[in-house]
Amino acid sequence: MDANNIPKIGYRIYNLAKKLWHYNRSITGIDNRKTLKHLQGISKKLKIKSIKSGKKVFDWVVPDEWNVKDAWIKDAKGNKIIDFKKNNVHLMGYSIPKKCDLTFEELKKNIFVDHERPNAIPYITSYYKKRWGFSMSLNQLKKLKKQKYKVFINSSLKPGVLNYGEILIKGKIKKEILLSTYMCHPSLANDNLSGIVTTIYLAKWIEELKDRKYSYRIIFIPETIGSIAYLSKHFKELKKNIIGGFNITCVGDNRAYSYLPSRSGNTLSDKVAKHVLNNIDKKFVRLTWFNRGSDERQYCSPGIDLPIASIMRTAFARYPEYHTSDDNLKKVVSPKGLAGGYNAIKLAIEAIEKNCYPKAKIMCMPQLGKRGLYTTLGTKKQNHNTRLMMNILTYADGKNSLIDIAEKSHRPIWDTYKIIEILIKEKIISI
Ligand code: ZN
Repeated sequence: MDANNIPKIGYRIYNLAKKLWHYNRSITGIDNRKTLKHLQGISKKLKIKSIKSGKKVFDWVVPDEWNVKDAWIKDAKGNKIIDFKKNNVHLMGYSIPKKCDLTFEELKKNIFVDHERPNAIPYITSYYKKRWGFSMSLNQLKKLKKQKYKVFINSSLKPGVLNYGEILIKGKIKKEILLSTYMCHPSLANDNLSGIVTTIYLAKWIEELKDRKYSYRIIFIPETIGSIAYLSKHFKELKKNIIGGFNITCVGDNRAYSYLPSRSGNTLSDKVAKHVLNNIDKKFVRLTWFNRGSDERQYCSPGIDLPIASIMRTAFARYPEYHTSDDNLKKVVSPKGLAGGYNAIKLAIEAIEKNCYPKAKIMCMPQLGKRGLYTTLGTKKQNHNTRLMMNILTYADGKNSLIDIAEKSHRPIWDTYKIIEILIKEKIISI
């Protein structure tokens, strides 16, 4: 892809990100519902589900619902020096309501800054301990005068619900592929808006997929508490049906591709993720289980053990703008980055869909020449794809998967799809 040749899907995903940018997403709240409603405009199959506050989910409890109408800090002259309405990253997630006058020293105790990134506003949350706070750039804090400040947080923390979105798409068989993305960060782009917008467009593509073999479960949940709540409700059916899947996050920048394994590291999803990335960018970053940090921690936890891996662009905590206001749609996420993230996961899903165990129907080498599949002129050089066809045939014992044959042949699995179609049509193999 060069700069002038960015696939249209990249712009479509990017434009959706712009529309969803300003919502104050958190683990609960009105703006999560608004985000999900907006996603229903892309996929009508998306159902908005809810779990009540106070519900015990494994070792956790679904917290109260948090909503914010307004929040600001004013200086002695009445100027708003911090305004939640201008940038929602300023307000600590789950801040309790507050209205007070404070000295500079008192105010400072509730202000968070990022010393490594002095111009950016750090993203801070406190879901399970009741407190309030604002974050601002270090440079802004340095300029603040020693005077009285007014603090106002018009938030509410009340019993309500935790919402999530769920799309179930039936395939020919009951076995399922799980796609999970989280939606709990306010105006932050790569982590995590890129995951939300890419996943909904993947869902749309899957819905339109002809001859879909697998069933799909695509969920939009708040990170950690959402996946724990979802698993506590569904883990038995998930354990029975899920054969592969991906946690989708950090898929919007154009700096790298990354792979984060499942806990065991040897599931079908791991194999497919490595195969796809190796064939689109040999320099992809191979992370380990020790780099985990998202919902894979729940999906791969002992006893749950789902085959879930992650295909990312630049992964969480591994880029300088991470969890700051600099992780935005101008500095970090781009149509090109999103198109790449979308494409990599699409190729991985396609690989799982098309993976099969070819089985020869003819003893010894089939005579390809008489079927027009092989040059009748015996020469030293073999056509690239003829060689691949011969490789498929030599391994077509019903025990080697297509993905393994592609790997052995040092070719991407997508180069085999057309060949498999022809070999089936010519009754040379069955799958
Ligand atoms: Zn995050």
